[in-house]
Amino acid sequence: MRVLVLTGAGVSAESGIPTFRGKDGYWRNLDPTKLATPEAFARDPQLVWDWYRERRQRIRNARPNAAHEAIARLAHQTEEFLLVTQNVDDLHARAGVAAEKMVRIHGDIFVTRCSRCEFERHDYEQEDEEQDAAYGVREHVRAFKAATCRRTPKCPACHALLRPGVVWFGEQLSRNELERVEDFLDGGACDVVIVAGTTATFGYIIDWALRGSRDGAELIEVNPEETPLSRFATRLVREPAAIALPRIVDDLTASRSAIL
Ligand SMILES: [Zn+2]
Repeated sequence: MRVLVLTGAGVSAESGIPTFRGKDGYWRNLDPTKLATPEAFARDPQLVWDWYRERRQRIRNARPNAAHEAIARLAHQTEEFLLVTQNVDDLHARAGVAAEKMVRIHGDIFVTRCSRCEFERHDYEQEDEEQDAAYGVREHVRAFKAATCRRTPKCPACHALLRPGVVWFGEQLSRNELERVEDFLDGGACDVVIVAGTTATFGYIIDWALRGSRDGAELIEVNPEETPLSRFATRLVREPAAIALPRIVDDLTASRSAIL
């Protein structure tokens, strides 16, 4: 069985990660679709970093839900499998999807990279801003400067601003990750394509779903609401991903066992 799964924010919403759209996504009354842009970072890097630090913390505290677990199970039980996720959190990985079976097309929120050169690092550990409280009064100014420095970190190689390793609105997708998706699509038609928890507003998501499901594959859309992809789907499941996916994966793996 050859399977392509495309996921978006709806899959992580039930782990408590707010989607960008809707009022839950707002942060300090700011619209995330305007914060996650190169323009916002150029205007106020500290504000953008504060937002990403809060999101990183929320993700560290979150756990994979039944949708992540169902997808990981499908990945294990399928010979040819690719998950393309638009989510920058690490919940698919923590549920057990191997890195070689997953493309994180919008990047990784725990990567910090230089805005100018090739430098990047993985910043999973919790930033230690809290330690500032331990400084004495005489150290206050130094602590304040250190805290400010941490809030807008600089590249150790070239001193330009560091930024989160995610793809912002209006930016190009990573060529490496794009090639991995193309390679999988070129490798043969899929038996099943599942598109879950995404409003499919990006043209490339629709394009990949349609190319993956060429030659009569089943195209399953899991989303409580209609999306631009709905009219192409062979099966519409109007439920949240954490409810629908465990059942869909059970059905798929059971039918495969029956064939074998
Ligand atoms: Zn640099």
